[in-house]
Amino acid sequence: MTINIILAGPRGRMGQEAVNMVNQESDFKLVACIDRKNGGKEVKDIAGLPPLHVPVYENAKECFEAVKADVFIDLTVPEVGYYHTKLALENNIRPVVGTTGFTDEQLNELAELAKSSNLGCIIAPNFAVGAVLMMKFSQMAAKYFSDVEIIEKHHDRKLDAPSGTAKKTAELIRQSREYKKQGHPDEEETIRGARGAEMDGMHIHSVRLPGLVAHQEVIFGSPGQTLSIKHDSLNRESFMDGIKLSVNHVMDMKELAYGLENIL
Ligand code: NAP
Repeated sequence: MTINIILAGPRGRMGQEAVNMVNQESDFKLVACIDRKNGGKEVKDIAGLPPLHVPVYENAKECFEAVKADVFIDLTVPEVGYYHTKLALENNIRPVVGTTGFTDEQLNELAELAKSSNLGCIIAPNFAVGAVLMMKFSQMAAKYFSDVEIIEKHHDRKLDAPSGTAKKTAELIRQSREYKKQGHPDEEETIRGARGAEMDGMHIHSVRLPGLVAHQEVIFGSPGQTLSIKHDSLNRESFMDGIKLSVNHVMDMKELAYGLENIL
């Protein structure tokens, strides 16, 4: 069976990689793209993309109404990605969303919409399988170590901080870890933010530097020992296996899954 796909954000770093992945998969077919700067053109007219006679729409509503598709992939920015995802569900198309930075309210609203529409929807802050394992291993370790700090490092074009992966890791750790407010009870920051962001007593530190892609280290400590669990995405190809898996999986789902770990 061929899965027809609409993709938003084809000029972006993730989008370009995903267009190429979809184009190379024999069971996937790119049927349209949504791009705010190239409405009315074809994919072949956009620099860096394969020579495909696939229409590009500027307006998502127009695209979803005009083109019949099974799955919608969003790799844009949070405000637009949220709007696109909602619109896709309203048009009976299953979203696979890599865009990060959605609020809890937005996620809840999309979950309700997917459920009431009986449609699958996958929103994953990290599509790299290794990163999902890092989160799972961290959740396992948190049962035995209540002191943990998360250090996430990304390229300096990233809009949201902390990363969706760091927040998701902290949420998973919270489910296994006994609550603890970490550090010295009287500790004081002499420069604001020195201890990073606090979530449920844990600390998350965000590093932004050119040259980085997506990296995270979760460090646990207890008397006499530390345990580090680390994952590095060296390029954006690392996310494509997870997107491929999600496109196939979302076809058989009837509600929203947040995080790739729910379908692995
Ligand atoms: P990027 O290179 O900046 O690409 C973003 C794309 O979104 C561009 O094509 C951009 O077009 C478009 N865009 C920006 N603002 C827009 C707007 N207001 N309306 C319509 N389109 C708009 O970013 P990226 O590195 O590809 O990342 C894309 C998203 O994926 C981000 O949210 C990032 O955090 C996330 N991400 C997720 C994973 C994962 O595994 N889930 C991994 C890496 C990244 P313009 O050039 O016109 O601005």
